[in-house]
Amino acid sequence: MTKPWSDKIRNIDPYVPGEQPKLNNILKLNANENPYPPSPKVLEAIKEINENDLRRYPSSNTENLKKAAAEFYNVSEDMLFFGNGSDDVIALAFLAFFNSSKPILFPDITYSFYKVWCALFNIPYENPKLTDDFKINADDYAKENGGVILPNPNAPTSIGEGKEFIENILEHNKDSIVIIDEAYVDFGGYPSIELIEKYDNLVIIQTFSKSRSLAGARIGVAISNPYLISILDAVKNSYNSYTVDSLAIKIGCASLEDKDYFIQTNKKICQTRDNTAKALKDLGFTVLPSKTNFLFVTHTDKKAVDIFSYLKENNIFVRHFNLPRIDNYLRITIGTDEQMSALIECIKNMK
Ligand SMILES: *Cc1c(COP(=O)(O)O)cnc(C)c1O
Repeated sequence: MTKPWSDKIRNIDPYVPGEQPKLNNILKLNANENPYPPSPKVLEAIKEINENDLRRYPSSNTENLKKAAAEFYNVSEDMLFFGNGSDDVIALAFLAFFNSSKPILFPDITYSFYKVWCALFNIPYENPKLTDDFKINADDYAKENGGVILPNPNAPTSIGEGKEFIENILEHNKDSIVIIDEAYVDFGGYPSIELIEKYDNLVIIQTFSKSRSLAGARIGVAISNPYLISILDAVKNSYNSYTVDSLAIKIGCASLEDKDYFIQTNKKICQTRDNTAKALKDLGFTVLPSKTNFLFVTHTDKKAVDIFSYLKENNIFVRHFNLPRIDNYLRITIGTDEQMSALIECIKNMK
């Protein structure tokens, strides 16, 4: 649509999230949501929300949440920064730390939001290619750059790297900020929190959406040294002082306080994942080694799009990316044992 003002407004290709179908009775395995409810303590906390929580502004520095998280992560409160989901935290981190004319680096196959923020904030970027077996080649990140962001484990490949790999990246980037997006770390990945003291250029970002079953509450957190956290705070307070609302603060605190529930549900998802991977391999799938709550799979003779459409006809939603190199793969979120059995049964019946 061309209007007299068209050249004055912003044109941008936004990030496209997984479909949220309105139908009932569907099996939704397309957005890496958790099949289990959040901790019962979260539901109790919601019941206790009172009029003041709504009438008043929330704490702009999310102090209660920081207190609970400091205990959970065993760091000091000034090493934590909360935002409205980790997407918000990552966007603010791009603004705060990727402020160079040199390109930032992230893999060609990764979380597709990164390049959208680069476009929005005018940040130049380069995309080193994953190897043929979809691994990040650390050497590609040893060149000059304006910053580095890597999800570990990576998405949608599900592959996680260990301490040595992350240290290698940090060692070769002492003059840049390295953001590790640990959205899936709680499903068996390597949590790099122990490296914060050793590397002053490390920023870790985690989310409560997946491993804490709180995608609807929008809670994300950055963990870093107090100086980089203060920069994030300054950027946030130059944009929107209240990104985390009072309800989310209470919900997040309750979730952090129930560590047993968190450990148990994540363990369960990892077991279901490993069983599902075996069952899919028996059906002719190649399954990448997953350290996440999803599997990235391709079939020897059936096309990914065909399996995708067939499953959708049967009310099972998985994710297919129509992108170079991965268009014959499917990303399947891990649900409950029953849900995964239903998926396997459905695939067995495919002609
Ligand atoms: C899901 C996801 C996020 C965003 O999570 P929210 O906290 O829900 O915004 C960020 N990074 C990766 C790699 C993800 O998969």
